[in-house]
Amino acid sequence: RAKESGRNTFQFYTPDLSVNVLERLQLEMDLRRALAQQEFVLYFQPKLDAVSGALTGAEALIRWRDPRHGLIPPNRFIPVAEEAGLIEPIGQWVLSEACRQLLRWQALGVAGLSLAVNVSARQFKQADFVASTEALVRAGGVAPALIELELTESMLMSDAGQTAEKLHELKALGFSIAIDDFGTGFSSLHYLRHFPVDVLKIDQSFVREMFDDAAALAIIDAVIALANALGMGSVAEGVETEAQRATLREHGCRTVQGYLIARPMPSDEFVGWARAYRAGLAADAQADGDVD
Ligand code: C2E
Ligand code: MG
Ligand code: MG
Ligand code: MG
Repeated sequence: RAKESGRNTFQFYTPDLSVNVLERLQLEMDLRRALAQQEFVLYFQPKLDAVSGALTGAEALIRWRDPRHGLIPPNRFIPVAEEAGLIEPIGQWVLSEACRQLLRWQALGVAGLSLAVNVSARQFKQADFVASTEALVRAGGVAPALIELELTESMLMSDAGQTAEKLHELKALGFSIAIDDFGTGFSSLHYLRHFPVDVLKIDQSFVREMFDDAAALAIIDAVIALANALGMGSVAEGVETEAQRATLREHGCRTVQGYLIARPMPSDEFVGWARAYRAGLAADAQADGDVD
């Protein structure tokens, strides 16, 4: 199976996975059970307008609540799920659950948010990816315009013809397309011209180093300029300090996401956070109004 997916497969063999075969089999079995027993859970991390501070959306991030090992982060099981052929059902669960939560938030008065969902390479490669994504989102009662699909550069680069077609179909259905971890893969500017991309997500490694490495800041600057020039949005991920946020805003970055604003949290906590955050913004605006 590894051979089939070709050149890009090596990237799934991260150090985390260099466990022995037995451990690997056990993990696969556990993942199958997790799917059947609904042990996966989505956490949500807010995204803010860099200038106004308005809460504009959230990113859905999967975790696995393993009864024995507790909360397991995605980097520990998504690559194995891909290898084991379990990523399609997991990806489908993620989309349905994301829609379900978005509707719940709306019902609870936390409206006007878009929701970003991560898509794995193998999932995107499925011939029926577009149809099944549309069907799931429609069944979930959510307008595709509220869903932002996060893809990575390497996914876009392999099989460019197929990719372009899928992206145009998704676009036509109303979905937004973001390129995640932008700047860490082998991207080609050519694709940015021919693929209907809406958003570039600046990888957190650049943000982390922006004050220590002049090149990192230069790349951030270039990516933001590129996004602006092409009429795309820009999201900086991994924003942890006020200084990073201020500099990103000064450099024209549109959206910020990171621990500075909030860590990813379970849905109910997210609703509480969003309400309090919006109330705080409204109170600030009121106070500003009183001063003027
Ligand atoms: P990603 O999509 O690039 O997500 C950003 C990661 O950075 C998340 O890790 C998030 O919790 C973390 N993060 C956010 N803000 C900060 C910050 O200020 N500082 C630091 N150090 N980290 C921050 P997480 O949740 O562990 O997810 C890791 C990766 O797993 C994701 O990277 C994504 O590629 C993948 N993933 C997550 N959920 C899903 C999913 O539902 N499906 C698929 N296929 N992949 C997923
Ligand atoms: Mg992402
Ligand atoms: Mg990312
Ligand atoms: Mg990442």
